[in-house]
Amino acid sequence: MSEMPQGAPANPMTFIARILRFLFWVVIASWSISLLRRLVNSMGGAVSNRNQPMDVPSDAVSRKLVRDPVCGMHLTEGLAIAEQNGGQRVFFCSEECRNKFMGEPRKFAANA
Ligand SMILES: [Zn+2]
Repeated sequence: MSEMPQGAPANPMTFIARILRFLFWVVIASWSISLLRRLVNSMGGAVSNRNQPMDVPSDAVSRKLVRDPVCGMHLTEGLAIAEQNGGQRVFFCSEECRNKFMGEPRKFAANA
């Protein structure tokens, strides 16, 4: 007589479908986690910038306008040559102006 092998509760097709559905959710979950992580990183970017050493100019600092006391030229702090003079930071457009100032700091300090 005819024997019907089907009817078993563990149908192989159902099993594969279950695995595929599981893999689908794993992909969705990992994708959303990486998206969230990227979102958190972009929000925390401004905070981590504050941990940079003082020597590295942040974007805001490098765009600050400073004046060269020797030639009177205005330039952004990021492009200027910084020098300490009596606890005050002085900025120069070039090595030439810096050397002039260092030769006669009193003459130019009032101009700063
Ligand atoms: Zn200059």
